[in-house]
Amino acid sequence: MTDKQKRIIAIVVAVLALGLLVHMTRKNLGSEEFAANTWTLKDSETGELVKIPTADLKPYPMLNPKTGKQTLCVTELCLWGDECRKKGGTHVIMNEILKKEGPTKCPVCGHVVRFRNPVPPDYVPGEE
Ligand SMILES: [Zn+2]
Repeated sequence: MTDKQKRIIAIVVAVLALGLLVHMTRKNLGSEEFAANTWTLKDSETGELVKIPTADLKPYPMLNPKTGKQTLCVTELCLWGDECRKKGGTHVIMNEILKKEGPTKCPVCGHVVRFRNPVPPDYVPGEE
């Protein structure tokens, strides 16, 4: 094998490696994009969590295909109690959506939950 042939093989290998890297990076970005385009809804009767693509969202409450009832509601995430943090947050349906009186409290830790519920100031994403 001549030096020229070796050089050509080295260039081909480098191009293939670069192509693979670009492909893997795109694949990873794609999955993040998918996660960002999904909403977690909660069934107000069964407590079941259902992930719905943003494009498929309808006015609430949405139909739960498993039960045939319109009980899927948007949730706020509570990360205030230790137990809520450990499991990556508790999905809470706001009282306003359920047409209940009074402030919404997290069923796990009892913290008052608001729309666009803030995360605790000392919370670090992924600590759970
Ligand atoms: Zn909580």
